[in-house]
Amino acid sequence: LLDTTTATYRQRVVDALDSVPGGDSRDVWRALGDARALTTEDLRVLLTELDARFPLGVVLSVCVQIATALPILLDAQSGDLAHRIGEVASRGEALLALAATDAAAAGSDLMELGTTARLTDDGIVLDGGKRWITNAVTADYALVLARHRPQRHFTSFLWVLVPTGAPGVLARPATGASFAGSGVGHLSFDSVSLSRDHLVGRPGRGLAVFARHVATERLAGALWASAMCRRVLRDTHRALTTRPLGGRTMWDNDAIRQRFARALVESRRIDALCAGLDSLVDSMVLKASVADSLDRVLAECAHLLGADSFADGGVAQLRSEATMFGIAGGATGAMLAGIADHVDDLLGDPR
Ligand SMILES: Cc1cc2nc3c(=O)[nH]c(=O)nc-3n(C[C@H](O)[C@H](O)[C@H](O)COP(=O)(O)OP(=O)(O)OC[C@H]3O[C@@H](n4cnc5c(N)ncnc54)[C@H](O)[C@@H]3O)c2cc1C
Repeated sequence: LLDTTTATYRQRVVDALDSVPGGDSRDVWRALGDARALTTEDLRVLLTELDARFPLGVVLSVCVQIATALPILLDAQSGDLAHRIGEVASRGEALLALAATDAAAAGSDLMELGTTARLTDDGIVLDGGKRWITNAVTADYALVLARHRPQRHFTSFLWVLVPTGAPGVLARPATGASFAGSGVGHLSFDSVSLSRDHLVGRPGRGLAVFARHVATERLAGALWASAMCRRVLRDTHRALTTRPLGGRTMWDNDAIRQRFARALVESRRIDALCAGLDSLVDSMVLKASVADSLDRVLAECAHLLGADSFADGGVAQLRSEATMFGIAGGATGAMLAGIADHVDDLLGDPR
Protein backbone atom coordinates (compact mmCIF):
# COMPACT_ATOMS: atom_id res chain seq x y z
CA LEU A 1 0.00 0.00 0.00
CA LEU A 2 2.84 2.38 0.95
CA ASP A 3 4.59 1.78 -2.38
CA THR A 4 1.38 2.47 -4.28
CA THR A 5 0.82 5.69 -2.32
CA THR A 6 4.40 6.82 -2.99
CA ALA A 7 4.11 5.95 -6.69
CA THR A 8 0.84 7.88 -7.00
CA TYR A 9 2.29 10.90 -5.21
CA ARG A 10 5.47 10.75 -7.34
CA GLN A 11 3.38 10.68 -10.52
CA ARG A 12 1.42 13.74 -9.37
CA VAL A 13 4.66 15.58 -8.62
CA VAL A 14 6.33 14.56 -11.90
CA ASP A 15 3.29 15.55 -14.00
CA ALA A 16 3.06 18.89 -12.19
CA LEU A 17 6.77 19.73 -12.52
CA ASP A 18 6.95 18.62 -16.15
CA SER A 19 4.16 21.10 -16.93
CA VAL A 20 6.17 24.11 -15.62
CA PRO A 21 7.40 26.08 -18.64
CA GLY A 22 10.50 27.75 -17.10
CA GLY A 23 12.30 27.98 -13.79
CA ASP A 24 10.15 30.54 -12.01
CA SER A 25 9.52 29.54 -8.40
CA ARG A 26 5.96 30.95 -8.41
CA ASP A 27 5.10 28.73 -11.40
CA VAL A 28 6.62 25.72 -9.64
CA TRP A 29 4.67 26.44 -6.44
CA ARG A 30 1.42 26.94 -8.38
CA ALA A 31 1.85 23.73 -10.41
CA LEU A 32 2.46 21.71 -7.25
CA GLY A 33 -0.54 23.37 -5.59
CA ASP A 34 -2.79 22.58 -8.58
CA ALA A 35 -1.71 18.95 -8.28
CA ARG A 36 -2.47 18.93 -4.51
CA ALA A 37 1.18 17.99 -4.02
CA LEU A 38 2.17 20.73 -1.54
CA THR A 39 2.26 18.44 1.46
CA THR A 40 4.91 16.84 3.65
CA GLU A 41 3.44 13.45 2.59
CA ASP A 42 6.69 12.31 0.97
CA LEU A 43 9.42 14.92 1.22
CA ARG A 44 12.01 12.56 -0.27
CA VAL A 45 10.01 12.19 -3.49
CA LEU A 46 9.18 15.90 -3.72
CA LEU A 47 12.75 17.11 -3.11
CA THR A 48 14.31 14.48 -5.40
CA GLU A 49 12.07 15.49 -8.29
CA LEU A 50 12.63 19.21 -7.64
CA ASP A 51 16.42 18.75 -7.38
CA ALA A 52 16.47 16.83 -10.66
CA ARG A 53 14.87 19.73 -12.56
CA PHE A 54 15.55 23.11 -10.97
CA PRO A 55 18.47 25.21 -9.71
CA LEU A 56 19.22 25.28 -5.98
CA GLY A 57 17.45 28.64 -5.42
CA VAL A 58 14.12 27.38 -6.78
CA VAL A 59 14.24 24.21 -4.66
CA LEU A 60 15.09 26.34 -1.60
CA SER A 61 12.06 28.52 -2.30
CA VAL A 62 9.73 25.49 -2.13
CA CYS A 63 11.57 23.69 0.67
CA VAL A 64 11.34 26.44 3.32
CA GLN A 65 7.65 27.08 2.63
CA ILE A 66 6.56 23.49 2.61
CA ALA A 67 8.56 22.32 5.62
CA THR A 68 7.97 25.22 8.01
CA ALA A 69 5.84 28.19 6.94
CA LEU A 70 2.90 26.19 5.55
CA PRO A 71 2.64 23.70 8.48
CA ILE A 72 2.72 26.58 11.00
CA LEU A 73 -0.20 28.28 9.22
CA LEU A 74 -2.19 25.07 8.78
CA ASP A 75 -1.74 24.28 12.49
CA ALA A 76 -3.69 27.45 13.35
CA GLN A 77 -7.35 27.00 14.31
CA SER A 78 -9.60 26.29 11.38
CA GLY A 79 -11.38 29.55 10.46
CA ASP A 80 -8.50 31.75 11.67
CA LEU A 81 -6.95 34.06 9.07
CA ALA A 82 -3.64 32.12 9.35
CA HIS A 83 -5.36 28.82 8.58
CA ARG A 84 -7.29 30.32 5.66
CA ILE A 85 -4.09 31.77 4.13
CA GLY A 86 -2.42 28.39 4.71
CA GLU A 87 -5.17 26.76 2.63
CA VAL A 88 -4.78 29.36 -0.13
CA ALA A 89 -0.99 28.77 -0.11
CA SER A 90 -1.37 25.00 -0.20
CA ARG A 91 -3.44 25.38 -3.39
CA GLY A 92 -0.41 27.20 -4.86
CA GLU A 93 -2.26 30.55 -4.96
CA ALA A 94 -0.02 32.46 -2.53
CA LEU A 95 3.73 32.42 -1.86
CA LEU A 96 5.01 32.42 1.72
CA ALA A 97 8.21 33.41 3.49
CA LEU A 98 9.36 32.43 6.96
CA ALA A 99 11.17 35.38 8.54
CA ALA A 100 13.05 34.49 11.72
CA THR A 101 16.63 35.74 11.12
CA ASP A 102 16.71 39.29 12.45
CA ALA A 103 18.49 42.44 11.32
CA ALA A 104 19.38 43.29 14.92
CA ALA A 105 20.98 40.01 16.04
CA ALA A 106 23.06 36.99 15.07
CA GLY A 107 20.81 34.51 13.29
CA SER A 108 21.93 31.81 15.73
CA ASP A 109 20.69 33.83 18.71
CA LEU A 110 16.93 34.16 18.17
CA MET A 111 16.38 35.26 21.80
CA GLU A 112 18.18 38.53 20.95
CA LEU A 113 16.03 39.39 17.96
CA GLY A 114 15.03 43.03 17.75
CA THR A 115 11.82 43.07 15.68
CA THR A 116 9.00 44.16 17.98
CA ALA A 117 5.25 43.50 17.87
CA ARG A 118 3.39 45.97 20.05
CA LEU A 119 -0.02 44.60 20.98
CA THR A 120 -2.70 47.28 21.21
CA ASP A 121 -6.38 46.83 22.17
CA ASP A 122 -7.42 46.01 18.61
CA GLY A 123 -4.20 45.42 16.71
CA ILE A 124 -0.47 44.84 16.31
CA VAL A 125 2.23 47.34 15.35
CA LEU A 126 5.39 45.80 13.89
CA ASP A 127 8.82 47.48 13.74
CA GLY A 128 12.25 46.12 12.82
CA GLY A 129 13.79 44.07 10.09
CA LYS A 130 14.65 40.56 8.89
CA ARG A 131 17.60 39.57 6.73
CA TRP A 132 18.46 36.73 4.38
CA ILE A 133 14.87 35.55 4.04
CA THR A 134 14.00 33.10 1.27
CA ASN A 135 11.11 34.43 -0.87
CA ALA A 136 11.43 37.90 0.76
CA VAL A 137 11.03 39.64 -2.59
CA THR A 138 8.43 37.25 -4.05
CA ALA A 139 6.20 36.25 -1.13
CA ASP A 140 2.61 37.44 -0.73
CA TYR A 141 2.77 36.83 3.02
CA ALA A 142 5.68 36.70 5.45
CA LEU A 143 5.39 34.79 8.69
CA VAL A 144 7.43 37.00 11.01
CA LEU A 145 8.92 36.05 14.38
CA ALA A 146 8.82 39.08 16.69
CA ARG A 147 9.08 39.89 20.39
CA HIS A 148 6.13 41.26 22.33
CA ARG A 149 8.12 41.51 25.60
CA PRO A 150 11.67 42.80 26.12
CA GLN A 151 12.82 39.95 28.43
CA ARG A 152 15.34 37.45 27.06
CA HIS A 153 13.00 34.56 27.74
CA PHE A 154 11.61 31.65 25.71
CA THR A 155 8.05 33.04 26.11
CA SER A 156 8.75 36.58 24.83
CA PHE A 157 7.96 35.83 21.16
CA LEU A 158 5.05 35.44 18.77
CA TRP A 159 4.35 34.96 15.06
CA VAL A 160 2.67 37.60 12.92
CA LEU A 161 1.32 36.98 9.41
CA VAL A 162 2.34 40.04 7.42
CA PRO A 163 0.92 40.76 3.93
CA THR A 164 4.03 41.96 2.07
CA GLY A 165 1.95 44.67 0.37
CA ALA A 166 0.96 46.27 3.71
CA PRO A 167 2.02 49.92 4.22
CA GLY A 168 5.43 50.09 5.95
CA VAL A 169 6.75 46.76 4.58
CA LEU A 170 9.80 47.01 2.33
CA ALA A 171 11.59 44.11 0.59
CA ARG A 172 14.93 44.29 -1.19
CA PRO A 173 17.02 41.52 -2.74
CA ALA A 174 20.03 40.17 -0.83
CA THR A 175 21.93 38.90 -3.86
CA GLY A 176 22.41 39.47 -7.57
CA ALA A 177 23.22 36.23 -9.34
CA SER A 178 23.54 33.71 -6.52
CA PHE A 179 20.60 31.62 -5.28
CA ALA A 180 18.69 32.52 -8.47
CA GLY A 181 14.97 31.80 -8.06
CA SER A 182 15.06 31.86 -4.24
CA GLY A 183 13.82 35.45 -3.91
CA VAL A 184 16.20 35.74 -0.96
CA GLY A 185 16.23 39.23 0.51
CA HIS A 186 15.84 41.57 3.44
CA LEU A 187 12.53 42.82 4.88
CA SER A 188 11.98 45.96 6.90
CA PHE A 189 8.90 46.92 8.93
CA ASP A 190 8.20 50.55 9.73
CA SER A 191 5.17 50.90 12.03
CA VAL A 192 3.28 48.19 10.16
CA SER A 193 -0.26 48.24 11.56
CA LEU A 194 -2.30 45.06 11.40
CA SER A 195 -5.50 43.79 12.99
CA ARG A 196 -5.26 41.19 15.76
CA ASP A 197 -6.34 38.37 13.47
CA HIS A 198 -2.84 38.54 11.93
CA LEU A 199 -1.47 36.93 15.08
CA VAL A 200 -0.59 33.28 14.47
CA GLY A 201 -1.14 31.23 17.62
CA ARG A 202 -0.88 32.65 21.11
CA PRO A 203 1.61 35.36 22.16
CA GLY A 204 4.46 33.67 24.04
CA ARG A 205 4.36 30.48 21.93
CA GLY A 206 6.56 31.79 19.08
CA LEU A 207 9.74 29.86 19.88
CA ALA A 208 7.87 26.73 20.99
CA VAL A 209 6.05 26.61 17.63
CA PHE A 210 9.32 27.19 15.79
CA ALA A 211 11.05 24.38 17.72
CA ARG A 212 8.17 22.01 16.86
CA HIS A 213 8.55 22.62 13.13
CA VAL A 214 12.27 23.20 12.67
CA ALA A 215 13.02 19.46 12.88
CA THR A 216 10.88 18.92 9.75
CA GLU A 217 12.84 21.66 7.98
CA ARG A 218 16.11 19.96 8.92
CA LEU A 219 14.83 16.59 7.72
CA ALA A 220 13.70 18.20 4.44
CA GLY A 221 17.19 19.72 4.05
CA ALA A 222 18.79 16.33 4.63
CA LEU A 223 16.52 14.57 2.12
CA TRP A 224 17.31 17.29 -0.43
CA ALA A 225 21.06 16.91 0.26
CA SER A 226 20.71 13.16 -0.20
CA ALA A 227 19.04 13.65 -3.60
CA MET A 228 21.69 16.19 -4.61
CA CYS A 229 24.54 13.82 -3.65
CA ARG A 230 23.07 10.93 -5.63
CA ARG A 231 22.51 13.12 -8.69
CA VAL A 232 26.03 14.57 -8.65
CA LEU A 233 27.66 11.21 -7.87
CA ARG A 234 25.74 9.58 -10.74
CA ASP A 235 26.83 12.32 -13.17
CA THR A 236 30.42 12.12 -11.93
CA HIS A 237 30.49 8.34 -12.22
CA ARG A 238 29.21 8.57 -15.80
CA ALA A 239 31.93 11.08 -16.67
CA LEU A 240 34.65 8.96 -15.07
CA THR A 241 33.63 5.84 -16.98
CA THR A 242 33.97 7.60 -20.33
CA ARG A 243 36.93 9.94 -19.81
CA PRO A 244 40.22 8.43 -20.99
CA LEU A 245 43.27 8.18 -18.70
CA GLY A 246 46.49 6.24 -19.43
CA GLY A 247 44.95 4.22 -22.25
CA ARG A 248 41.91 3.15 -20.17
CA THR A 249 39.19 5.19 -18.44
CA MET A 250 39.47 7.20 -15.26
CA TRP A 251 37.13 4.75 -13.56
CA ASP A 252 39.77 2.02 -14.07
CA ASN A 253 42.22 3.93 -11.89
CA ASP A 254 42.28 2.54 -8.32
CA ALA A 255 43.09 5.86 -6.64
CA ILE A 256 40.14 7.53 -8.39
CA ARG A 257 37.78 4.66 -7.51
CA GLN A 258 38.77 5.00 -3.84
CA ARG A 259 38.14 8.75 -3.81
CA PHE A 260 34.75 8.21 -5.42
CA ALA A 261 33.90 5.44 -2.93
CA ARG A 262 34.73 7.79 -0.01
CA ALA A 263 32.30 10.34 -1.41
CA LEU A 264 29.67 7.60 -1.77
CA VAL A 265 30.18 6.67 1.91
CA GLU A 266 29.51 10.31 2.89
CA SER A 267 26.34 10.28 0.82
CA ARG A 268 25.13 7.08 2.53
CA ARG A 269 25.91 8.65 5.91
CA ILE A 270 23.27 11.29 5.14
CA ASP A 271 20.72 8.58 4.24
CA ALA A 272 21.43 6.65 7.44
CA LEU A 273 20.91 9.70 9.67
CA CYS A 274 17.60 10.59 7.98
CA ALA A 275 16.18 7.31 9.27
CA GLY A 276 16.54 8.01 13.00
CA LEU A 277 15.10 11.42 13.81
CA ASP A 278 13.41 11.22 17.23
CA SER A 279 14.14 14.54 18.93
CA LEU A 280 15.20 18.14 18.44
CA VAL A 281 18.77 17.27 19.39
CA ASP A 282 18.76 14.49 16.74
CA SER A 283 17.81 17.16 14.23
CA MET A 284 20.86 19.21 15.30
CA VAL A 285 23.13 16.19 14.77
CA LEU A 286 21.50 15.64 11.39
CA LYS A 287 21.93 19.31 10.39
CA ALA A 288 25.62 19.48 11.35
CA SER A 289 26.43 16.12 9.80
CA VAL A 290 24.59 16.72 6.52
CA ALA A 291 26.41 20.04 5.97
CA ASP A 292 29.81 18.33 6.36
CA SER A 293 28.98 15.27 4.26
CA LEU A 294 27.40 17.26 1.44
CA ASP A 295 30.39 19.58 1.24
CA ARG A 296 32.78 16.60 1.09
CA VAL A 297 30.78 14.93 -1.67
CA LEU A 298 30.54 18.08 -3.79
CA ALA A 299 34.21 18.98 -3.23
CA GLU A 300 35.38 15.50 -4.27
CA CYS A 301 33.13 15.44 -7.33
CA ALA A 302 34.36 18.91 -8.35
CA HIS A 303 37.98 17.72 -8.08
CA LEU A 304 37.27 14.48 -9.95
CA LEU A 305 35.61 16.36 -12.80
CA GLY A 306 38.51 18.79 -13.15
CA ALA A 307 38.02 22.04 -15.06
CA ASP A 308 34.61 20.89 -16.34
CA SER A 309 33.22 21.44 -12.85
CA PHE A 310 33.50 25.21 -13.54
CA ALA A 311 31.09 25.10 -16.49
CA ASP A 312 27.98 27.28 -15.98
CA GLY A 313 25.70 25.46 -13.56
CA GLY A 314 28.50 22.97 -12.83
CA VAL A 315 29.47 21.30 -9.56
CA ALA A 316 31.87 24.08 -8.48
CA GLN A 317 29.03 26.64 -8.55
CA LEU A 318 26.64 24.21 -6.90
CA ARG A 319 29.17 23.60 -4.12
CA SER A 320 29.52 27.33 -3.49
CA GLU A 321 25.74 27.78 -3.06
CA ALA A 322 25.38 24.50 -1.14
CA THR A 323 27.63 25.94 1.57
CA MET A 324 24.33 27.37 2.81
CA PHE A 325 23.47 23.88 4.13
CA GLY A 326 25.91 24.71 6.97
CA ILE A 327 24.31 28.13 7.60
CA ALA A 328 20.64 28.53 6.65
CA GLY A 329 18.15 27.14 9.17
CA GLY A 330 20.88 26.64 11.79
CA ALA A 331 24.62 27.33 11.45
CA THR A 332 26.91 24.38 12.18
CA GLY A 333 28.60 26.20 15.10
CA ALA A 334 25.24 26.78 16.78
CA MET A 335 24.24 23.14 16.18
CA LEU A 336 27.49 21.93 17.77
CA ALA A 337 26.90 24.21 20.78
CA GLY A 338 23.41 22.67 21.19
CA ILE A 339 24.77 19.14 20.77
CA ALA A 340 27.40 19.76 23.49
CA ASP A 341 24.60 20.98 25.81
CA HIS A 342 22.82 17.61 25.36
CA VAL A 343 25.84 15.36 25.73
CA ASP A 344 24.19 13.19 28.42
CA ASP A 345 21.07 12.55 26.30
CA LEU A 346 23.18 11.65 23.30
CA LEU A 347 25.61 9.32 25.09
CA GLY A 348 22.85 7.65 27.12
CA ASP A 349 22.96 5.86 30.44
CA PRO A 350 26.32 4.05 30.96
CA ARG A 351 24.65 1.03 32.64
C1 LIG B 1 20.42 31.21 1.21
C2 LIG B 1 19.90 31.52 2.58
C3 LIG B 1 18.54 31.45 2.81
C4 LIG B 1 18.03 31.76 4.08
N1 LIG B 1 16.68 31.71 4.28
C5 LIG B 1 16.17 32.05 5.48
C6 LIG B 1 14.76 32.07 5.69
O1 LIG B 1 13.96 31.73 4.81
N2 LIG B 1 14.29 32.47 6.90
C7 LIG B 1 15.12 32.85 7.91
O2 LIG B 1 14.62 33.21 8.97
N3 LIG B 1 16.47 32.86 7.75
C8 LIG B 1 17.01 32.46 6.56
N4 LIG B 1 18.36 32.49 6.35
C9 LIG B 1 19.22 32.96 7.42
C10 LIG B 1 19.88 31.81 8.17
O3 LIG B 1 18.93 31.05 8.89
C11 LIG B 1 20.96 32.42 9.08
O4 LIG B 1 21.97 32.86 8.22
C12 LIG B 1 21.48 31.42 10.09
O5 LIG B 1 20.56 31.22 11.13
C13 LIG B 1 22.81 31.88 10.71
O6 LIG B 1 22.73 33.19 11.16
P1 LIG B 1 23.85 34.29 10.73
O7 LIG B 1 24.01 34.28 9.28
O8 LIG B 1 23.47 35.56 11.40
O9 LIG B 1 25.20 33.74 11.34
P2 LIG B 1 25.65 33.81 12.87
O10 LIG B 1 24.58 33.26 13.75
O11 LIG B 1 26.14 35.18 13.15
O12 LIG B 1 26.87 32.80 12.84
C14 LIG B 1 28.17 33.16 12.34
C15 LIG B 1 29.17 32.07 12.72
O13 LIG B 1 29.19 31.90 14.13
C16 LIG B 1 29.02 30.52 14.45
N5 LIG B 1 28.21 30.39 15.66
C17 LIG B 1 26.98 30.91 15.87
N6 LIG B 1 26.55 30.58 17.10
C18 LIG B 1 27.54 29.85 17.69
C19 LIG B 1 27.70 29.22 18.96
N7 LIG B 1 26.73 29.26 19.89
N8 LIG B 1 28.85 28.55 19.20
C20 LIG B 1 29.82 28.51 18.27
N9 LIG B 1 29.73 29.08 17.05
C21 LIG B 1 28.60 29.74 16.76
C22 LIG B 1 28.25 29.93 13.25
O14 LIG B 1 28.50 28.53 13.09
C23 LIG B 1 28.83 30.71 12.10
O15 LIG B 1 30.03 30.10 11.68
C24 LIG B 1 18.92 32.14 5.11
C25 LIG B 1 20.30 32.19 4.87
C26 LIG B 1 20.79 31.89 3.63
C27 LIG B 1 22.27 31.94 3.39
